[in-house]
Amino acid sequence: MNRIYFDNAATTSIDPQVLDAMMPYLTEKFGNPSSIYSYGREARMAIENARKSVAKILNAHPSEIFFTSGGTESSNTAITAAVRDLGCKHIVTSAIEHHATLHTVQHLKAQGLVKVSYVKLLKNGHVDLVDLEKVISASSEKTLVTLMHANNEIGNILDIDAVGNLCKKHNAIFHSDTVQTVGHFPFDLKNTNVHFITGSAHKFHGPKGIGLLYINRDVKIKPHIHGGGQERNMRAGTENLYGIIGFAKALELSTENYDKDCAYIRLLKYYMQDELQKNIPVVTFNGDVRGKSLYTILSANFPLTEKSEMLLYNLDINHICVSGGSACTSGASQGSHVMQAINNDPDLVTVRFSFSKFNTKAEIDMVVAKLKTLL
Ligand code: PLP
Repeated sequence: MNRIYFDNAATTSIDPQVLDAMMPYLTEKFGNPSSIYSYGREARMAIENARKSVAKILNAHPSEIFFTSGGTESSNTAITAAVRDLGCKHIVTSAIEHHATLHTVQHLKAQGLVKVSYVKLLKNGHVDLVDLEKVISASSEKTLVTLMHANNEIGNILDIDAVGNLCKKHNAIFHSDTVQTVGHFPFDLKNTNVHFITGSAHKFHGPKGIGLLYINRDVKIKPHIHGGGQERNMRAGTENLYGIIGFAKALELSTENYDKDCAYIRLLKYYMQDELQKNIPVVTFNGDVRGKSLYTILSANFPLTEKSEMLLYNLDINHICVSGGSACTSGASQGSHVMQAINNDPDLVTVRFSFSKFNTKAEIDMVVAKLKTLL
């Protein structure tokens, strides 16, 4: 029985071309990039070429690109460094950030290092930019603004340029969790007022366990992980050579095919929304579905009934993979903190459908037909 995988915001399948690019570095080109002989030099060259390629795509300088183990490490590093090294004593964030951000911020607050303000959200789940400016401008201390670019549960996209400009105006440090948008959105970092962004290859058909931290060259932070001098003394530990190659290749492919893939996946998202509305009229949707929203994510609500309570389980036994919110919280006893912040309705069952270039309309037809029988 073939599975239908509609959980691409949780992770994506590796693109065969990415695997092909990685394979030599898992086999014959296995050298340690720090070794001075030919195997090492070959590995070092491959890493620096990958860094250059990533920097070019994001319109950043290669010295601003650091490879990490993923989005979680990148956000932990950026937020902690903003407090420890850049003097931020006030953090402005939102209640719908990923736990990689929220838990880091809460940890710093529990240590008594910062005060935290949560910006207001509009009804459609967007950050209230008027309130954001009010909070930043009223801050008497050096402020870190940490707001995600696209929300991984509802897909809303933040106006990163507008927030960056506000931060610049009020001399605040700006970190954005861009894990859902790197590989899905054209970045122009030289012309964006942001100090830190993050990325994770497994969200755009690359391998797991490899991420990116962009650190704007105007800010200087201390290393988060101590040891050898890798990543220009910023992140010690033997580099994830094949992961870095995979990250760069996945980003190159997603950039090359961005227009085509984005149009195709958006079509799938809108088709699913239309089909759900036609076939299950009680459905409602979260976020700014057809507005400022990521083309990969559709978050739907169904009324809570004895049947719908078991929906995720029933979809699973029918080989349909979806998420009830963030994958990072599914299975936990408490519901999604994002849903609590934006609609907080215990009488709704929320399902996140998230698509990739490997999905089809035929799969959507099958899922909608199955949903009709399960609700
Ligand atoms: N931030 C967002 C918005 C995410 O969706 C995720 C992954 O679920 C992360 C951070 C964590 O990234 P990683 O899995 O690479 O640690």
